[in-house]
Amino acid sequence: MKNFFTLMILLTTVLLTGCTSTVERTEIFMGTVVTLKANGLNAQAAVDESFHAIAELERNISADVAKIEAADAFVDVSPDVYKILETAQIFSELTNGAFDVTVGAAVDLWAVGTDKPRVPTSDELAAVKNFVGHERLHLRGGKVHLDSGVKLNLGGIGKGYGVDIVRKIFASHNITDGLIDFGTSTIFAVGRKKIGIKNPREVDKLSAVVEIENSALSTSGDGEKFFVANGRRYSHIIDPKTCAPVEGENFSVTVVVDGSHELCATVADILSTAAVVNRKRVEEILSQQKIPGRVL
Ligand code: ADP
Ligand code: MG
Repeated sequence: MKNFFTLMILLTTVLLTGCTSTVERTEIFMGTVVTLKANGLNAQAAVDESFHAIAELERNISADVAKIEAADAFVDVSPDVYKILETAQIFSELTNGAFDVTVGAAVDLWAVGTDKPRVPTSDELAAVKNFVGHERLHLRGGKVHLDSGVKLNLGGIGKGYGVDIVRKIFASHNITDGLIDFGTSTIFAVGRKKIGIKNPREVDKLSAVVEIENSALSTSGDGEKFFVANGRRYSHIIDPKTCAPVEGENFSVTVVVDGSHELCATVADILSTAAVVNRKRVEEILSQQKIPGRVL
């Protein structure tokens, strides 16, 4: 009998460890390299389900943004896009306008990060200001309306929201060890992980390594997307007040938000972008403990 139990325990252990696996997969989504790593019994299912969900999110974002911009009345959008826009609006208020998803027309005008960036004329700059401002975006009971001519740009929030979707899927599969990495700029560490922060000037080198646990980390800066004209270096992040890119040398801001916040990666993504425009305000928000996080 004793031998029988020993055998059963042995068999169960073999079966359990036999199913435990580490899965790592990389795909391109939302214009970036998404790498998901999971370790655990349901690692394969967690990773597969996550990539399906990211693909769906990407489809919903492009379909809904096109629909909102084309309509001249309130339109229905997917619950995810509504949540993204609702969160964006809360943080536009909180950051005194430093973060603003209605910067689309200004982003398009400067075209930083495309193969045709340019410094617009002062007339063009004056004109574009009429189409930027979070008060031009209206949300009501799942429906969205945008003032005519205003363009949405979810480049500073979509990846963070994608990370949050994946982290919930990982949790539902009991993954306690893994990494959710959207382009190395927005990351969630499942368990304790060391994360390398890229040097803004030499992006293949790391400027720091931080250790985080069940937290989201997001870095924004002028490291990869920028252009130089007349000796000035323009980043891809726009100050919504001036509708011009943030200028400067060698800057990069990293924000860490604790996993106890249900949208920690979305918030980290928002705040790292916002901190490029107004670092002081983001530090204030975090020190007032409105959000469980820190600026590095
Ligand atoms: P990355 O996408 O390189 O990780 P960010 O998360 O900082 O960088 O997002 C920057 C992107 O967000 C820009 O490329 C643009 O699409 C959009 N954006 C630019 N300025 C703002 C702003 N003030 N508020 C919100 N989104 C912005
Ligand atoms: Mg961001």
